[in-house]
Amino acid sequence: MDTVRTVAALRERVTAWRRAGERVALTPTMGALHAAHLSLVALGRAKAERVVATIFVNPTQFGPGEDFESYPRDEGRDAALLAEAGCDLLFAPPPDEMYPAGFATEVRVRGLTDVLCGAARPGHFDGVAQVVTKLLNQAWADVAVFGEKDWQQLAVIRRLARDLDIATEILGAPILREADGLAMSSRNRYLTAAEREVAGGLHAALVRLAGALRAGRGAGAATAAAAEELRDVGFETVDYVEVRDGASLEALETVRDAPGARVFAAARLGRARLIDNIHVWPEGGAA
Ligand code: AMP
Repeated sequence: MDTVRTVAALRERVTAWRRAGERVALTPTMGALHAAHLSLVALGRAKAERVVATIFVNPTQFGPGEDFESYPRDEGRDAALLAEAGCDLLFAPPPDEMYPAGFATEVRVRGLTDVLCGAARPGHFDGVAQVVTKLLNQAWADVAVFGEKDWQQLAVIRRLARDLDIATEILGAPILREADGLAMSSRNRYLTAAEREVAGGLHAALVRLAGALRAGRGAGAATAAAAEELRDVGFETVDYVEVRDGASLEALETVRDAPGARVFAAARLGRARLIDNIHVWPEGGAA
């Protein structure tokens, strides 16, 4: 597996594959790879003859005081994992390849980005929309794979690809979890052993919340109880616990007649901010 660092080199490789009639899948990441990232590569592999992974810790999606500087970076280890997973090419650009002097363009997806993590992390999804628009335009891939763990991010990316007529098909990948239900995340390494014991409680609270909603409890009371439960088991701050439609992200008061209902939560534990989401009804998609 080769590593390229310029858009020109990336396009040269992708163009040659496409001329040869091969389909290309793109899997954008910020590195610090774990099994879930490799599952995106595997899904890309199933959809295309060639898989390109990207590693770029995008400065524009981190807010002041967030973990941009300390975000784990180990390209050597990541490249070895990607090669083993059957990835064909790694695109790992330096910041000035992505944001050259004079860069001035913003990408904002209105509405979808005002709620959930968008409310808790102002500007975050503008940075995500900006970098993902660039990666999709740089790679000319047939399909791009993003994880359902970041469900709101996936919704934002689907919308921008549609709105901006980006031809790449956007594909969601199911959430990969640890044995206790904790969604895999590069940021889980911030957890101390004691915090790691508590962290599985986030998924457990969402599973119970979904059950309460299916049993007919109103969203207001059920989400308040779930937030209380999170604080009781040791989460320091609960940013949100909410019930929303998975496609529009509109808030729901009841899940009756709402087959796409999902529950979403974000909570802080020590240095880590953990997020998770699951469907409420079995037909609503993978948990
Ligand atoms: P990141 O490196 O955290 O930006 O994540 C890169 C991609 O991997 C994003 O599309 C994430 O949604 C996806 N991803 C991260 N963790 C998981 C997980 N536990 N299950 C599924 N996808 C994930």
